[in-house]
Amino acid sequence: MRIDVVTIFPEYLEPLNVSLVGKARQRGQLDVRVHDLRDWAHDKHNTVDDTPYGGGPGMVMKPEPWGEALDAVLESGEGGESDARPVLVVPTPSGVPFTQELAVELSERPWLIFTPARYEGIDRRVIDAYGERLDVREVSIGDYVLAGGEAPVLVIVEAVARLLPGVLGNAESHRDDSFAPGAMADLLEGPVYTKPPVWRDREVPEVLLSGHHGKVARWRRDEAFRRTTANRPDLIERCDPATLDKHDRKLLAELGWVERADGRFGRVAQAVEE
Ligand code: SAM
Repeated sequence: MRIDVVTIFPEYLEPLNVSLVGKARQRGQLDVRVHDLRDWAHDKHNTVDDTPYGGGPGMVMKPEPWGEALDAVLESGEGGESDARPVLVVPTPSGVPFTQELAVELSERPWLIFTPARYEGIDRRVIDAYGERLDVREVSIGDYVLAGGEAPVLVIVEAVARLLPGVLGNAESHRDDSFAPGAMADLLEGPVYTKPPVWRDREVPEVLLSGHHGKVARWRRDEAFRRTTANRPDLIERCDPATLDKHDRKLLAELGWVERADGRFGRVAQAVEE
């Protein structure tokens, strides 16, 4: 996979040399190219921002440097392996939420181009213009506002890179993750343990030492339900009841959840109110 990042803070992307992403780069699984937007700013001060039309606080990133930078990045891919329709990933708090599903979708594309902004964002015409040539995804990493899009790029690249074939040591590692597609898709992953079996008088749950795969799987699923009901009740509310077995339903009832008339689950108090 090829990844290009255009930014006014190339040094902010240094962590892409470390750990999992860094190793994937060294192994040639990931071709990451970071570009300094100011290389395409032509005045004495390398200006990349200007005041907003219509007034208001803050500055807006000018379209000309972004246009030249993106043209140069796109030209560098012509005829190459990444000569496929790239995805332009635009980090913005007003984008669609970044999810595991979107990470999977992006991991299947050969070329991603990121445009982390600063100030109040990029002149809209840039996104509209490249939207005619590229697949654009405006993506938010959460309901909060950061000073710039570089940290979101680090988040998105790491989530995508670990899904690429051969990047994780054990290909199964992400199978049971929270949000991984499959039987546990609506559940968060439960707690995990390692050696020693007793630490500061705290024992590892006995079932994990039993070697009984069926019981371990059941325990993990129960713990996933406990954690999801506590931390993300919204996931239980939208979970497909067809994916629940008798044991799941019994556990949910013990945790204070009931099946509502529409077949979905709700907390007992809510169900009574309705
Ligand atoms: N005025 C913008 C708004 O309210 O939508 C916020 C601009 S923010 C100060 C500057 C840049 O940081 C954004 O253009 C984007 O690149 C990045 N950014 C900030 N928060 C983000 C988030 N939650 N997800 C993705 N990118 C974000």
